[in-house]
Formats: sequence, structure tokens, C-alpha cells
Amino acid sequence: MIIYKSKAEIDLMREAGSILAEALQRLQDMAAPGITLLELDREADRFIRSRGCIPGFVGYQGFPNSICTSVNDQVVHGIPNHRKLREGDLLSLDCGLIHQGFWADAGLTVGIGKLSPLAQRLLEVTRESLAIGIEQAQVGNRIGDISAAIQGHVEAAGFNVVRQFVGHGIGRDMHEDPQVPNFGIAGRGPLLKAGMVLAIEPMVNAGGPDVALLGDGWTVVTVDHSLSAYFEHSVAITPDGPEILTQVRP
Ligand code: MG
Ligand code: MG
Repeated sequence: MIIYKSKAEIDLMREAGSILAEALQRLQDMAAPGITLLELDREADRFIRSRGCIPGFVGYQGFPNSICTSVNDQVVHGIPNHRKLREGDLLSLDCGLIHQGFWADAGLTVGIGKLSPLAQRLLEVTRESLAIGIEQAQVGNRIGDISAAIQGHVEAAGFNVVRQFVGHGIGRDMHEDPQVPNFGIAGRGPLLKAGMVLAIEPMVNAGGPDVALLGDGWTVVTVDHSLSAYFEHSVAITPDGPEILTQVRP
């Protein structure tokens, strides 16, 4: 069941989103060779609580930390640990918080120091694919329009989208209907209406689309150990077009 949000609810989700965007900006600024994944996690937790919000990932289905950190061939859901970032690493950060009962969910991939040409291109194509998907988040379009736009951009670049994990509706729960796959057929799927809020999150592998779960029960990796990148925004569908909620506001 799709839960539509009122203007007042979207106002709260915009506040949530801007705080989350600030948190992610801090992490992006900190991410450099020598820093550990756990240090990033501690800063996210501290910052989110300092703004009166709840770090939503802690305890979510038993997840132990406030952010997910996924490095290189890790796709999503990596658990922060004492691993130190190294020059050339591709770090995907995913974070969620709850503000006055409403969730924001967003993330990005950041390059640590100088990236290889392949890693740099993967990062850029993935970021572009999110922007291209968001452009399709228009009243009267369908979920498949978002999915097909993302898939088309990624595959034209010679990369592959992950199938096993998808975007989602978001609101009082992190994961609401509808699912937002990063692959599909334009014109298919649920109709987009004003008041829907979607977390759109392309996960893109430099190699094949297949992924596997590590023994920790959380970390998702590419089966062929190719690099992976990911970008995510929470986006409101409005009569005036898509509004990215998870961005820093002046
Ligand atoms: Mg997320
Ligand atoms: Mg999400």
C-alpha cells in the first residue's frame, strides 16, 4: 500500500533530509586515507543526535551501526569497522535518520584520494544515473520510467545495475511501498502521484550485476569482485516536479 504524504509531512521530511545531507557532507569531508570506517560511523551518530534526530540504522533489523560503509567490491550494507581507508578506495556511505517520526535515507560514493580511471568513471556514471532517474519522478509517469532511465544510462556506459536490491517508498517507515527497481520497462509499474516520497538508489557494478552476501549477514559484495558504486536521495513527487529532500539547505 502506497502512503501519500501531506504538504506538512513533506515539510518534516525536508527538515529530516537536510540534516541527513549535512551529516553526509561531514562524512564526505572526513573521508581520507588513514581514517577508519568506525570513526566515520561515530561522527555520523554524534552529529545526528546533536541535531535532535535518531540515527535510524542502529538496531534496524539488528544492524549494529549508524551508517553503512561499503568499500570497493562491497556494494551496500557494509558494517563499519577498524579498516583504514586507503588512497584509491571507493567508499559508499549510506545513512538514515528519523526526525519527528519521519525518515530520511540517502547516501553516496566518495573517492579516497586519487581514483583509477575506471573507479572515477563508475562513480560519475552512478551519480548521473541517479540524477537521470530523479528527472523521471514526475506526476503521471510510472515507476518503470525511473527504472528504465537509470538502467539505460548505466548499461550505455558498459556497467550493470544490481537486481537484488532496490529503492523504496519512505515516510514513517524507512521501507514503504512501492519498490523502485534500478531496472525495468518505461511505462510500467505504479503510477506516480503527488505526495509520494521515494528513496531512489542506483547500485552499479563495473562488472556483472550479481551480488552475494558475506558471512557477517549484512555486507553485500559483487560476485566477480568488480568495483561497485551507489548514490541515493529521498525524493518527493510534487505537482511542480521532483523535489530532492536530502540536500543541504541554506
Ligand atoms: Mg539508504
Ligand atoms: Mg534506501
